[in-house]
Amino acid sequence: MPLGEFDLIGRYFTRPARRAVLGVGDDCALLAPTVGMQLAVSCDMLVQGRHFLPNVAPQSLGHKALAVNLSDLAACGAQPLAFMLALALPRADEAWLTDFSRGLFTLADAHGCELIGGDTTQGPLNICISVFGDVPNGRVLLRSAARAGDDLYVSGTLGDARLALESVRGAVALQRDAFEAVRVAMEQPQPRVSLGLALRGVASSAIDVSDGMLGDLGHVLQSSHVGATLDVDAVPRSAVLAAQQLTWQLQCTLAGGDDYELLFTAPPSLAAAVHAAAEQARVAVTRIGGIDAQPGLRLIDAAGQAVPNTYGSFDHFCS
Ligand code: ADP
Ligand code: MG
Repeated sequence: MPLGEFDLIGRYFTRPARRAVLGVGDDCALLAPTVGMQLAVSCDMLVQGRHFLPNVAPQSLGHKALAVNLSDLAACGAQPLAFMLALALPRADEAWLTDFSRGLFTLADAHGCELIGGDTTQGPLNICISVFGDVPNGRVLLRSAARAGDDLYVSGTLGDARLALESVRGAVALQRDAFEAVRVAMEQPQPRVSLGLALRGVASSAIDVSDGMLGDLGHVLQSSHVGATLDVDAVPRSAVLAAQQLTWQLQCTLAGGDDYELLFTAPPSLAAAVHAAAEQARVAVTRIGGIDAQPGLRLIDAAGQAVPNTYGSFDHFCS
């Protein structure tokens, strides 16, 4: 007896509501917004062949589908509350559903973010999640508030997810243990939610790095009407990436994509607060440049020499 739509929802995606007033099961879910807070809402879709490889483990897919959404909340300094899951599945494969939902709920529980509803249909595998978070009135972190003189920082390391992808594509040869190390970055990124929360009132602007750092920085510069100078040698990278050719290191850190680290700005007077936030969130934060009044992006190396910007960013309609 194949598993029907409602049995599938009941078995794999229904859990008692905790913070929500009403979860899965009715026409709408109900959230009770807290007075003095604003709702932060975001939506990201994962399409097979575009955002993930067909052979990826379903548990990793469940994790990543939610992680990329939580990363958007992190960038805004929002506390995750709830999410919706719209799922198209080729068939009701119970082994797949068990692993997918395990990956999904493990990450959801780690962030106190509950599944409150969704939609389920048969079709080519496609996962679309909407997340809801909250942030105190007026304290959201946006792309549009970087100021000339601010320092530019990034969390964690960049480039491993792209290195893993290039290894799968056969463009880079990695030893097995090196591949396994970077594969985690590609398949199970950790959204920097606690860093985003700790940066409220400290960072002047923030964005999560999803499409490649230079492209994402470009969004900040454009919305903030400022420019930047960035030291390409200062961009943090893992030991595995640091062992690759320099051109790969730069390509992967500057325009890799799928990093889900936070790129943010803060005035130099708050440098100690930035480091305290990083410590509180238990994630490394590195200063990689500064914001200029002069528009445009200038790349330099550790010696201060200009580096030509030949690094494209990811665009779904141009790649
Ligand atoms: P409707 O037809 O009224 O939109 P559905 O029949 O699609 O409702 O869904 C029934 C209930 O199950 C709703 O509460 C919906 O939010 C929930 N739901 C459907 N698919 C999912 C899913 N993949 N994950 C969580 N909840 C789901
Ligand atoms: Mg429906």
